[in-house]
Amino acid sequence: MNLTSLTTKDWHARAAAVRYETRHFIDGQYVDSVAHGRFTVVNPATGKPLCEVSAGTAADIDAAVASAKRSFASRVWSRKAPRERMAIMAAYSRLLEDNNEKFSLLDTLCMGKPITDMVTIDVPAAARNFAYFGELIDKMDGQVTATAADAFHYILREPLGVVGCIVPWNYPLLMAAWKVAPALAAGNSVVLKPAEQSPLSGLLMAQLFVEAGGPPGVFNVVNGLGETAGAALALHNDVAKIAFTGSTEIGKQMLIYAGQSNMKRVALECGGKTPQIFLADLPDLDTAVTYAINGIFGNMGEVCNAGSRLLLDRPIAKEFLARFIERGKDMYRAGDPLDPTINLGPLVTASHRTRVLSYITRGKSEGARLEFGGGSPDMPGSFVNPTLFSGVNNRMTIAQEEIFGPVAAAIEVDGLAEALSIANDSIYGLAASVWTRDLSTAHKTVRDLEAGVIWVNCFDHGDMTQPFGGYKQSGQGRDKCVESLLSYTQTKSAWIHLG
Ligand code: NAD
Repeated sequence: MNLTSLTTKDWHARAAAVRYETRHFIDGQYVDSVAHGRFTVVNPATGKPLCEVSAGTAADIDAAVASAKRSFASRVWSRKAPRERMAIMAAYSRLLEDNNEKFSLLDTLCMGKPITDMVTIDVPAAARNFAYFGELIDKMDGQVTATAADAFHYILREPLGVVGCIVPWNYPLLMAAWKVAPALAAGNSVVLKPAEQSPLSGLLMAQLFVEAGGPPGVFNVVNGLGETAGAALALHNDVAKIAFTGSTEIGKQMLIYAGQSNMKRVALECGGKTPQIFLADLPDLDTAVTYAINGIFGNMGEVCNAGSRLLLDRPIAKEFLARFIERGKDMYRAGDPLDPTINLGPLVTASHRTRVLSYITRGKSEGARLEFGGGSPDMPGSFVNPTLFSGVNNRMTIAQEEIFGPVAAAIEVDGLAEALSIANDSIYGLAASVWTRDLSTAHKTVRDLEAGVIWVNCFDHGDMTQPFGGYKQSGQGRDKCVESLLSYTQTKSAWIHLG
């Protein structure tokens, strides 16, 4: 079935037929919450309730962690022959793709992402994560070191045990895949806590792992609010690592939880305020403007590395802005996220829309010039129009704080030195880009930018080999890539005296 040929009517018919599984997935089975609590998920495109989901508490987290601990202790997964685990991961990756329609519907209905983005971006990328990390399983070597003749020393690489994954709502399936895939590939057992706004795709993910041949108990999911289920997982003494993606504020909380409990490892992928530097000698203005528009308005700006600060070299600033305004106003069409032709869905919740609109008010009151957008379209749902501010200076709130919505801030600069100093003047350091024709300028800028991911003459390009993660308060640790896989392992050194 070619999902890209479905019409809005087809998608609505399929959405109406979805049967939501809303219980936790523990030890290979769906189970209710111990306390039988539930919370409501609202479809942000309609403002209407979608379903009621089991609200996990510490008791449910205890049950899921116990299941993960049992499966890890039994070695049913970690000691399975690498080839067998690789075969399961490969089959699982294919199963995720085969279930593209279901995953696309679940995430779109919960958080408003345009269905075409789910079908063509999120689901294939999630499946690729499991394929990539599965392929690495028999390539993770230990080491034998050089020693004197009376000793033999080798270093084993072993899984950590139970890994807790806490993820956000902006790419529910994909952000879970970034954590769960390397954790499983390294031989760990997992407890996933999805965001309360998008709790459904994680459940299907765990169910399919068992269908692909993964042992029950190795991949568990508990839904619930952050301050209850999330906190219980991060504070659990039987959890060896928390892999977190979310806001910087809650990321800091994860470090506190680790200190208050068992000193577990913590990996953090947090917020960003990505600068894009457009120098006067950039290769092609039109291409650069297209990337700039997509870089901030794609996924409604609900992207950790959204290119929210446009640093425009003065000689090209006027023309850049004119083209951005001309095309950026209409390139994103708001509407029903189940309409495969729209590319701007609602923001995740009504309260998030209020927050984004309050930043727009702040931008105006601090003296930035509103070029277009600035409000909501006249339709139900928590939409915000794509918005551009010019005349921004980097001390303004809209240049410093993560808005997590479709709001761009254009800042004029005099040359590379000023661009760099403004780019780095941020508590964040997730990503950055530079546009220039000059090879030396490009390489020097890469070195001088304080960010974990740098793009030159492009934006948001990459593949599974690319480490993704931040400098400064954008976090610590990297997703995707071999480094990520190794971060779900620990080394054991065996020193043998040969007598
Ligand atoms: P959030 O921090 O509010 O929530 C993230 C997760 O943490 C959710 O599952 C939530 O339930 C849980 N949580 C919330 N409070 C908690 C607490 N007190 N204890 C334990 N768990 C708790 O973030 P969000 O609003 O869901 O997501 C948006 C944020 O995620 C943005 O800041 C964005 O930049 C960031 N993000 C970063 C990346 C990256 O790779 N760097 C990727 C995607 C999103």
